[in-house]
Amino acid sequence: MATPTKHALCSASSSERWMHCTAAPRFEENFPATTSDYAEEGRTAHAICELYAKYAFGGITKRSLNSSLKKLREDRFFSEEMIQTADVYVQYLKEKAMTFEHPPYIQQEVRVDLSSYIPDGFGTCDCIMIGDDTLHITDYKHGKGVIVSAENNSQMRLYALGAIQQYSMLFSVKNVSMAIVQPRIAETVSEETITVDELLTWGEKAKALAYKAYTGLGEFKAGDWCLFCRGKAQCKARAEKYTALEDFKDFALPKNTIEDKAVPGVLTNADVGDLLTRGAGLKKWYEELQEYALSAILNGENIPGWKAVAGRSNRVFADADKALELLKAAGYDDKTLYTHTAKSLSVLEKTIGVKKFQEILGKQIVKPVGAPTLVVASDKREPYNPAKADFAEVVS
Ligand code: SF4
Repeated sequence: MATPTKHALCSASSSERWMHCTAAPRFEENFPATTSDYAEEGRTAHAICELYAKYAFGGITKRSLNSSLKKLREDRFFSEEMIQTADVYVQYLKEKAMTFEHPPYIQQEVRVDLSSYIPDGFGTCDCIMIGDDTLHITDYKHGKGVIVSAENNSQMRLYALGAIQQYSMLFSVKNVSMAIVQPRIAETVSEETITVDELLTWGEKAKALAYKAYTGLGEFKAGDWCLFCRGKAQCKARAEKYTALEDFKDFALPKNTIEDKAVPGVLTNADVGDLLTRGAGLKKWYEELQEYALSAILNGENIPGWKAVAGRSNRVFADADKALELLKAAGYDDKTLYTHTAKSLSVLEKTIGVKKFQEILGKQIVKPVGAPTLVVASDKREPYNPAKADFAEVVS
């Protein structure tokens, strides 16, 4: 969804967090809200998706599309890739609309009131379709850091609750389907369908948690959902989770006696797997703590036992143009002074545009298998295959 400029204390987009850690919204008020270039980039990409979707379903004329697009092209976050990803988004919407027996009611960028579930809550559905007893909402995500699934997705479910309420006088809906289109990272669109009754039951649970979170009666609970919490580096609950070393305690229990080991005193592979799982969050938390400490010290604060120093650096010319001039004056030619290299594949693709790039270079692109990386077994990628790694795959 397009990031709203005003934020509710318990927003739908942060619901995964406050539904697990009901203390988070009030706790986060102690830390300044920040925005990033990624968020701004997402806003521009959403605006382009909205334009194309409106045009595809007759909401605006070609002329209006072109003039709005002209303005967006001047946006500093605009990239040609956004036109391509908007195309993927619109194609999905068109295909989805075709699955309805009768042409559905379609609306883009629908602001929904969520205050029946979240105090002061609201959200914006990128696209809503209603027909054949079904409400379908689609959310476009421009980020390519983490694949977001529509399954059991609290943000999508809250939007769906708001949309059902908003359209209840006009449509009778029995099923709700929700989809996330994330073309820069996910190859397929993630979808979930549930009945309205199931959704309403879930909504009651969400409402109770939102009330707790909003009124300041919440409880801290650290977990994966801490990732985007504004106070994650300074959160005591999160620190306790890792410093108590609870996760490591049973490791010293008798079950891990030498009889269990292939070689006495040596960790088994099962132990290693177990320890890696237990320590993953600890490593992440420690890195974030370091990041916080560095910025605090640079802001003049004191972190006992730590200080900031200048990191390693490489020599550079104080004035590169002047240096080259001096070398030329000393008799060195361009061949000695310059290298001529092509721009990278991704820079060229961004400049030329995905479609044109594919047309010209589709058969020239190969994708070597990446270096082996350790991930958790539940990761959706295929296991590393050394035989396959010897051959680069042609990407079509
Ligand atoms: S860091 Fe985690 S535990 Fe702490 S307030 Fe945020 S979500 Fe809750």
